[in-house]
Parts: sequence; structure tokens; C-alpha cells
Amino acid sequence: MTHAAKGKTVFVTGGARGIGLGIVKALAADGYNISFTYRSSGDEAARVRDELQANYPEQTIDCHEVDMSDRGQVDTFAGQIAETEGLYGLAYNAGGSYDTLAALVDQDRAEALFQLNFWALTRLAGAAARPLMRARAGRIIAIGSITAQMGVSGNSIYAASKGAMLSYIRTLAIEIARKGVTANYVSPGYVDTDLMAPYASYREKVEQQIPLRRFAQPEEVGALVSYLFSPLAGYITGAVIPIDGGTSAGLSIQV
Ligand code: NDP
Repeated sequence: MTHAAKGKTVFVTGGARGIGLGIVKALAADGYNISFTYRSSGDEAARVRDELQANYPEQTIDCHEVDMSDRGQVDTFAGQIAETEGLYGLAYNAGGSYDTLAALVDQDRAEALFQLNFWALTRLAGAAARPLMRARAGRIIAIGSITAQMGVSGNSIYAASKGAMLSYIRTLAIEIARKGVTANYVSPGYVDTDLMAPYASYREKVEQQIPLRRFAQPEEVGALVSYLFSPLAGYITGAVIPIDGGTSAGLSIQV
């Protein structure tokens, strides 16, 4: 536990499993009070909360059921964030995908994905930004995707939603910087979570094209977010930080 985290509360969306769980575990180990959300993983969320609360009895670990596809639920949760005493930040991680060819997009499904990946982020980050600016300290982090900057066939709407997150976070960062609050965009490549399960049969082929030849583990993304929350990361803002095993560093075409 670090002294800097004592008494500070951070919110993590989608914290019961996958990357969100990696973030929750890392920030709990840092000493923050953690409030994380889940939608369908209620049992996992309760297990995570109980385990972390037992490991860190001096901190408060709690969880809330929030469907980020539901504007009413997001609004209510935004109100809770804004009123939290000792608020220190938000890691917006909840997300989903919608795979289709760019020429065959179904607008209803695309809009639903934008609500989850983008609009809910803007609502919660906006709610967090005001109290953080008043406190003149805090962190806002979006878990984006490499697809915001590099095209992947079948990912147009997912990529567009992640690109919208990137543009929003950069602008937010500029607007809140003068009050000492940072906002950053973490850009993972491939991470070993359930989100990748539908692509299991391609995994080996994909890994061969990643310079580090493997997917990331959720704990590695958690460690990066932990650093961005730390006091010494206070000069990093408006940044796009890749965690992709070198994928975005070079052309995939090799001779
Ligand atoms: P998972 O599928 O393992 O987890 C998705 C998370 O999002 C769960 O916590 C889930 O909650 C939550 N979630 C999904 N839909 C909703 C909803 N409607 N309302 C609220 N919460 C919801 O995926 P990852 O952990 O891999 O993904 C986390 C983030 O990382 C996403 O934003 C994803 O785009 C991004 N990412 C992932 C990559 C990867 O390779 N895995 C690569 C790049 C980015 P619950 O289980 O409770 O329903």
C-alpha cells in the first residue's frame, strides 16, 4: 500500500473479470478504496469484492450492478461518482465488440455498441471530472484499443467507438489539465480474456504476428493503469499508451 492512495476512491467499470479485474486487483494492492461495476458477472463480482475486502481490511471495496447500455442506469451511477467523498479517479474499462464488415453495418447494433463503449464513458468521465477539478487532483483513464489507430477487418464499428473514445479523452485532457487532473488512453493489442474467446482458433496465427509472440495478460494492463494512477505519472496526460507487444511499432508485412 502506498501512502498516496490512502482514503482515495477510484471507480473501475467492468471490474469483475478480464482486464477490469486486473485493474481492480492492481489498484486495490496500491491502497485505494475501490468501487467497481459489473453487469452480468454478479457472482464473480461478489467473490472479488469479498476476497479483496479480506485482503485489504483498511480499505473499502464495493461493487455495483450497472448496465452501461442503459442510459438511465449510467446517469444514476454518474450521480454516485460525482458525490463520492475522496474521489480520485475513474478507469473506464467496460466494453464489448460488434463484428461485421464495414459495408454491412446494422445501425441499431452499432448505436448500441457506441452507448456501451463511448457514450457511457463520456457521461461517467464528465461526472468525475468536475469534483476532481475542484480537488485539483485525479486521474481519468479509458481502456481503448489498438484498433482505434490500425484497421482490422471486421472491426469497423468497434474501432470507430474506440476511436471516438480516443478523441474524447484527448480533448478532455486538454480541458482539465490546468486543474491538475490527467486523462489518458490505454491502447491494448490482444489481451488474454473472454473477449478473445470467439477467436481462439486463430490465436496461434495471431500470436505469430505479434512481435512479442504472445497475448498480454490482464495483470499487465492492471500494472500500467496502476502506474498512471500513481503520483509520479502526474505529467502524463492526453497520451495514447500502447500495450500491444510491439504490434503498433512496425508494419506487419515482413520480408
Ligand atoms: P471481457 O469480455 O473479458 O470483459 C468485458 C467487461 O465489460 C466485463 O467486465 C463486462 O461485465 C463488461 N461489460 C460488457 N458489457 C457491459 C454492459 N453493457 N454494461 C456494463 N458492463 C459491461 O473483455 P476484456 O476484459 O478483454 O475487455 C475490457 C476492455 O478492454 C474492453 O473495453 C475492450 O474493448 C478492451 N480491449 C480488450 C482487448 C482484448 O484483447 N481482450 C484488446 C483491446 C481492448 P460483466 O461481465 O459483468 O457483464
